[in-house]
Amino acid sequence: MLKHYLFLTAGVVALAAGPLAAQTTNSGTDKFAQMGTELPTPNEYRTASGAPGHAYWQQRADYNIRVKLDDEKQAITGSEDITYTNLSPDALPYLWVQLDQNIMDKNSITTATQVGQLQEKMPFQALDYIQRSDFDGGFKIESVTMKGGAALKHTINHTMMRVDLPTPLKPKQSVTFSVAWHYNINDQLKINQRSGYEFFAKDGNYLYEIAQFYPRMAVYSDFHGWQNKQFLGNGEFALPFGDYRVSITAPSDHVVGATGTLQNPNDVLTSTQRKRLQDAVGAKKPVVIVTQQEAEQAEKGKPKGTKTWTYAAKNVRDFAWASSRKFIWDAMGIKENGNNVLCMSYYPKEGNPLWGKYSTEVVAHTIRTYSKFTIPYEYPVAISVHGPVGGMEYPMLCFNGGRPEADGTYSAERKYGMISVIIHEVGHNFFPMIVNSDERQWTWMDEGLNTFCQYLTEQEWERNYPSRRGEPQNIAAYMATDKSLQTPIMTNSESVLQFGNNAYGKPATALNVLRETVMGRELFDYAFKQYATRWAYKHPEPADFFRTMEDASAVDLDWFWRGWFYGTDHTDLSIEGVKSYTVDSKNPEVENALKRQQINAEPKSISQQRNLQDIPKTLVDQKPDLKDFYNNYDPLAITAADKQRYQQYAKALKPEQQQRLSQGLHFYEVGLKNIGGLVMPVIVQMTYADGTKEVVNIPAEIWRKNNAEVTKVFVTEKPVTAFVLDPYLQTADTDLSNNAYPRQLAPSRFELFEREQRQQQNPMQQQVSSLQKKEEKPLNTAGGTN
Ligand SMILES: [Zn+2]
Repeated sequence: MLKHYLFLTAGVVALAAGPLAAQTTNSGTDKFAQMGTELPTPNEYRTASGAPGHAYWQQRADYNIRVKLDDEKQAITGSEDITYTNLSPDALPYLWVQLDQNIMDKNSITTATQVGQLQEKMPFQALDYIQRSDFDGGFKIESVTMKGGAALKHTINHTMMRVDLPTPLKPKQSVTFSVAWHYNINDQLKINQRSGYEFFAKDGNYLYEIAQFYPRMAVYSDFHGWQNKQFLGNGEFALPFGDYRVSITAPSDHVVGATGTLQNPNDVLTSTQRKRLQDAVGAKKPVVIVTQQEAEQAEKGKPKGTKTWTYAAKNVRDFAWASSRKFIWDAMGIKENGNNVLCMSYYPKEGNPLWGKYSTEVVAHTIRTYSKFTIPYEYPVAISVHGPVGGMEYPMLCFNGGRPEADGTYSAERKYGMISVIIHEVGHNFFPMIVNSDERQWTWMDEGLNTFCQYLTEQEWERNYPSRRGEPQNIAAYMATDKSLQTPIMTNSESVLQFGNNAYGKPATALNVLRETVMGRELFDYAFKQYATRWAYKHPEPADFFRTMEDASAVDLDWFWRGWFYGTDHTDLSIEGVKSYTVDSKNPEVENALKRQQINAEPKSISQQRNLQDIPKTLVDQKPDLKDFYNNYDPLAITAADKQRYQQYAKALKPEQQQRLSQGLHFYEVGLKNIGGLVMPVIVQMTYADGTKEVVNIPAEIWRKNNAEVTKVFVTEKPVTAFVLDPYLQTADTDLSNNAYPRQLAPSRFELFEREQRQQQNPMQQQVSSLQKKEEKPLNTAGGTN
């Protein structure tokens, strides 16, 4: 009896002392420490707020390019004049030019450092890959000269070329030099690159998706000097902005789509095509410029001579194009913030019915949605091309996969895969084509931010769109994988492990978690727009993003960057236990009755139960003389003294204290453990005895003094019957089984089989079914998405 009395009292005492005394034992690292040496020191070029500084500068490269497509040999011949303007404060004795095609050179570092294994059974394509060095795809540089002048000394180091200038290029000065070259185009279905051709055996025609086709200037910057890290394949590109004028000479019956605006429509388009293009500007749905019928007719023709298409683009970081006589071409104009944007698609008949129905609509939807979340799109066109490249982005133009079966049917997976890849690649116009991060160094800065916006755009395309990335629960399995198989997001592009999850899925999810759970939509959207606005047409670094998101929101996110971007911890929060209390009223009428109830409810021991039968009368029962005061004493009986004591006690209390005693509130001390190590907000759902629910969001700072375990007290008017952590799956918690208190049964099913049947093999049956499987190979297996 005494025991119970002590227990209840102790409860109240512990409650008072708990928040003061406990939980200040952070033995591990301080996960809330401010970012210090991890970020570069702010300077006049980049401020501590994450904005470009007052002395911010960037270089500029303007191009005048002439290329010829050889449809017989699948080769490109080209020449260019590059005007390089030095806006840095430094004199430059030499310039670095990127020769990306040299990744397909016989001696490329990529091939040499490719690791691989041989297996006893390999598909034919595996050998194509191992033997790719047979294909001679590198740039053949014919000449490097001052424009119209003397040869320039140049040194080729794999994918980089140093051009030595006669005199150092001083600040505010420009130099124009010329390069001539040629190279062989890769068969994209055999050698999977970011561009290439596809041969259609049925009609004997080629479709070209052409990029990295010209020697391109490397970036010289305040934060990196020359970005001349070799191109190994994963780390994409770092490119300066400039104006382009590109003339493409192709077979006369080819349709050529490219970055920028067509300069000579009268030379290359029929009057019907020009009229259709005009109609497309204000159209409500895509207008066909070249119909399928016209494209099929062209497929049968033989090329007669050539045509030269001239395109111009202002303030872009790159240029790409596509060419084929197979192209169907459609267009639809939209207005974006007062600008006319012509959304267009080029695709062979093999892409229909998917492409005609969806591609241009998806382009337009993407431009609108991204403009809403970042900055208004200012380029004149946005183009989606269907060909052999699974997914690759360039300014205003991208290459996308997703082809229906030959009979025109397609799976839901193929349809949504195609829509998603178009959203993704068109979305790259914003990251990194406009917000021009250094892809050679950081894949996440464009892929992660872009995949996040892709998720937002998919969800605005169709209710409950099957987005692959963005929902926190979709990344949980990756984050729970062995830490030796993970690298932090802040890892160089070439060294990232689990590329898709690390550089696309995890950063995209991190931003979604920031938006929905840590910052809220209003604060996040404003800060994210601020980042895009500050760094549009400039070169941002990770710190500029991290700093801007805090600067524009007043949310300290250093813990979040540490956890999600610099570490590989995962979320696994657990409810370890719940203690339940109510307040001792001190009123003996109430408390003693309660105590008696509890005592009566206590289980009787097995001996006590049996003794009732085996010992009907104890000795004291038999000899009542042995009884004294204590045999009849009831410690819970209320005496006059008890009542008087209570009255005196109550009288001494202030009114608010009296109210506390009589309120009948419920107190729950919830024990929380951080098993995964990632500090995250604690989202607690309480189910009350009457069936109603309430969700409480506690910021991650609950972990700031002890990031391993904390207790939190909840005070409720109604009794709680169950606690559940993260009921709406907001935190990528990798183990949901420890999220509920009391623990819940997770119903599952197991399969029964007869052992005999399992062990018996039927080689004949297996052979037949594996032959069938091989024939079910999907049509368009080429290429991953980028
Ligand atoms: Zn991408």
